[in-house]
Amino acid sequence: MQKISKIAVLTSGGDAPGMNPCIRAVVRTAIYHGLQVAGIRQGYQGLIDNNMYDMNTRSVSNILNLGGTILKTARCLPFRTDEGMELAYQNLKANGIDGIVVIGGDGTFTGALRFSRKYPDIAVIGVPGTIDNDLYGSTYTLGFDTATNTVIEAIDKIRDTADAHDRLFFIEVMGRDSGAIALRAGISCGAEAILLPERDTAIEMLIENLKAGQYNKKSSSIVIVAEGDKSGGAYDLAEAVRKQIKFYDIKVTILGHLQRGGSPSAFDRILGSRLGFAAVNAMIDGKTQMMVGLEANHIKLTSLEEALTQHQFKLEDDLMQMADILSI
Ligand code: ATP
Repeated sequence: MQKISKIAVLTSGGDAPGMNPCIRAVVRTAIYHGLQVAGIRQGYQGLIDNNMYDMNTRSVSNILNLGGTILKTARCLPFRTDEGMELAYQNLKANGIDGIVVIGGDGTFTGALRFSRKYPDIAVIGVPGTIDNDLYGSTYTLGFDTATNTVIEAIDKIRDTADAHDRLFFIEVMGRDSGAIALRAGISCGAEAILLPERDTAIEMLIENLKAGQYNKKSSSIVIVAEGDKSGGAYDLAEAVRKQIKFYDIKVTILGHLQRGGSPSAFDRILGSRLGFAAVNAMIDGKTQMMVGLEANHIKLTSLEEALTQHQFKLEDDLMQMADILSI
């Protein structure tokens, strides 16, 4: 088993609230075990540019409550090339680094696994950090809870104005491949309809539901649309529905990047701390090419390969059915 004396940590892909608590846990757990820690700025780009610095316990003071990531994040094309990976490897070796904790989504893990297969002397442990909650091997990913709460807060406000004016709002939320935020937010806000990438939307059915709502004396309606819904996004849907529904004034709101920001929820602070702590312990135990996740409230290790090949996270059928029934 390779002895680890210095590790690095980076955040990559889309930022997610909870990354900072995770960085803090990685740094402090490593230092507790007598390891040195380097922080790599801007994800894989920082590895290629040798943009890293030594971290100590004070480097991560007062960051638990911060959204975003103090290490910055980036999408890095050169890391997809052999030349980029070789540069990253040379920089890691030159800095005496034996292992990296990568916090990110499936793209980040794909890069980490490729890198680790080419250079197996660098240990790699992944932490699922993405608001999309779409990774196999962890019931929740870092940032999902905070993002969902941010969406709920925004929709509650929109409901107030929708109700005052008897309006129908189409609200688009993040989730290109995953309807996780849309579904949870829809249940929490009593949306009249929730449109998800995981199921086909029959516009006729949506219109019938909205008409039934009006017949049942609903004064406003909220339709939540995940951005990856196959019917073409909130604007196109609103246009199609406007042709057939005259009793509501129809408006569209795209929530956009505000969903990524904000102070992490208690859940994400604790999840980030647990996953960061577990990632360092796994590395010290000689593990590599693994992802740390949380299942049934226990830390679970899943191979990166399995996390990626099984990555089609399934939305719960019972939640979808319940959402439809409770919104009548
Ligand atoms: P999110 O779920 O928030 O989008 P992500 O980790 O999936 O996060 P990506 O932009 O897909 O975000 O991936 C992050 C980075 O991982 C990419 O910018 C790239 O540097 C690296 N990466 C992705 N795919 C590969 C690959 N096939 N080979 C090498 N590196 C990759």
